Amino acid sequence: STMPPLLSAIANAGRHGVLAKSAVVMERLGQIDTVALDKTGTLTEGTPHLTDLRPLPGSGLTGDGLLALAAAAEHPSEHPLARAVVGAARERGLTPAAASGFASAPGRGVSATVGGRTVQVGSPGRLLPDGAEQARAVAGELEEAGHTAVVVLRDEVPVGVLGVTDRLRPDAASAVAALTELTGRPPVLLTGDNERAARRLAAEVGITDVRAGLLPQDKAAAVRAWERQGRRVLVVGDGVNDAPALAAAHCGVAMGEAGSDLALETADAVVVRDELATVPAVMGLSRTARRLVV
Ligand code: ADP
Ligand code: MG
Repeated sequence: STMPPLLSAIANAGRHGVLAKSAVVMERLGQIDTVALDKTGTLTEGTPHLTDLRPLPGSGLTGDGLLALAAAAEHPSEHPLARAVVGAARERGLTPAAASGFASAPGRGVSATVGGRTVQVGSPGRLLPDGAEQARAVAGELEEAGHTAVVVLRDEVPVGVLGVTDRLRPDAASAVAALTELTGRPPVLLTGDNERAARRLAAEVGITDVRAGLLPQDKAAAVRAWERQGRRVLVVGDGVNDAPALAAAHCGVAMGEAGSDLALETADAVVVRDELATVPAVMGLSRTARRLVV
């Protein structure tokens, strides 16, 4: 072809399933020495399913009652955990009650008013008040088993815990190996999820540096700290919670298939074929293109 190398690299990247928003992005993809991966939806498939329903004694709720309550509050959320909860309720033929006043806090969970009461659904670490030992114990047990625990509170009182599990992407381990090869160090996992489940999953693909329980701004702060040390960071993420880190990175790449609109808008490039291994493939192309330019 007679195209300049960087443009032909963009065209090639497109063929490999990554849409770069500019030629500068292709150049930057070839300069990366540190890769930070989000967990849910990036390292995993992003379509978690419900595994456990644990209404707490004294809540007066059955398993189905707990699920219906959680689904009512989660209904408007685009978070993968919300889709798991709402999907499970639908599969059981439950009709969630009408909710109003929905609000979501990235890295924390959601809240809504259901039947005149405030319902919160989300992270045990962020939502459980001091003294909620029973809920904390159930959440800990689920996390120990590798699940993400989701707590449900009614008028600020914990009423139950849900267990949710997501599968690794089939190409997660090979993508991590290729990224390690390219940059000379294994990727780091940045996640809002709990440390136990995150470490367990990371170990399966060869990642040992795990930063868990992070809020969106914590992910961005980690990226900025590396950049200050002169590192060139690539962030791969899919969620609203990844947007600040995607913006802070030398290069931000969003997983397109289930990616949130905010992540897709903020990223410099979008993975349009739903495979994580497209990222190291395109980084390799960009390195080759750079050699041709220089
Ligand atoms: P990740 O970094 O792995 O993509 P997120 O930052 O999206 O994870 O979420 C971090 C944590 O916040 C989740 O593990 C969960 O505990 C909680 N959370 C966020 N949004 C929701 C939601 N809609 N429903 C339940 N939990 C949520
Ligand atoms: Mg995610």
